[in-house]
Amino acid sequence: MSIAYRLSEVRRSLPEGVTLVAVSKTHPAERIREAYDAGQRVFGENRPQELRAKAECLPADIEWHMIGHVQTNKARCVAAHAAWVESVDSARVAEALQREAARCGRVLNILLEVHVADEESKTGWALDELLGYVRTAPFVAMPNLRVRGVMGVATNTDDMKRVRDDFRALHSAFDVLKPYFDAGFDTLSMGMSHDYPLAVECGATTVRVGSLIFGERDYSAAGR
Ligand SMILES: *Cc1c(COP(=O)(O)O)cnc(C)c1O
Repeated sequence: MSIAYRLSEVRRSLPEGVTLVAVSKTHPAERIREAYDAGQRVFGENRPQELRAKAECLPADIEWHMIGHVQTNKARCVAAHAAWVESVDSARVAEALQREAARCGRVLNILLEVHVADEESKTGWALDELLGYVRTAPFVAMPNLRVRGVMGVATNTDDMKRVRDDFRALHSAFDVLKPYFDAGFDTLSMGMSHDYPLAVECGATTVRVGSLIFGERDYSAAGR
C-alpha cells in the first residue's frame, strides 16, 4: 500500500481538529516527499542532525516537530529547524532552547513532556517536579518559547487499560498546568500508531503516527 493511501486512512480516522504529526524518523526524504505530495505538512523527527538534513532538502512549508530528547549541545540545531519541540523535559533544555531560539530570531512552540509510563521509560518530567518549576513562572523570562501544552508517551504494553490510565493521567496533567499559561496552551500530544484511537478518545489534540504511515523502521539501514 502506498504512503498516500495509508496517510489518507489515518486522516480519515481522526476527528476534525486533531493534528496529525507524521513521524518520519529513519525514513528517507523521498518517502517524506510522497507524504508531502499527498498533502501532509507536519512531520516529526527525533534526532537533531537527521531533522536538519531533511529540513534542508525538503520544502520550506513543512512544519517540523522535534519529538525526541534534546541534548543541550544540540539545541542550536533544533532551534534553527524545528517549529515545535514536543520533548522539553527539563529546565536546562528549555533554557538552552530559549538561548538558541533568541540567537537565530525564532519563536518555538514547545510542549512540556510529562512522564506517566511505567518505570522502563524514564523520559519526561515528573508532574510534581514540573509543577514546582512552572509555579516559579520561568517562561516569563523565555520570550522565544511559546508553551503550547503537554506531550507524553503511554506505557509500551498491550494492556489497554494501563494505556488508558496513562492517557488520562496526561490529560489531567494538562488540566493542572493550563492555568499557569495563556490561551495558547491548547495542545495535548499523545498517541502513536498502536494506540492513537484511544488517545483521541482520551482527549488528544495531536497524535504522532509513524509506522502506520511509513511502515516499520529499519534502524540498521538508517546507519545506526
Ligand atoms: C517514534 C515515535 C512515535 C511514532 O511511533 P510509531 O509507533 O511508529 O507510530 C511517536 N512518538 C514518539 C515520541 C516517538 O519517538
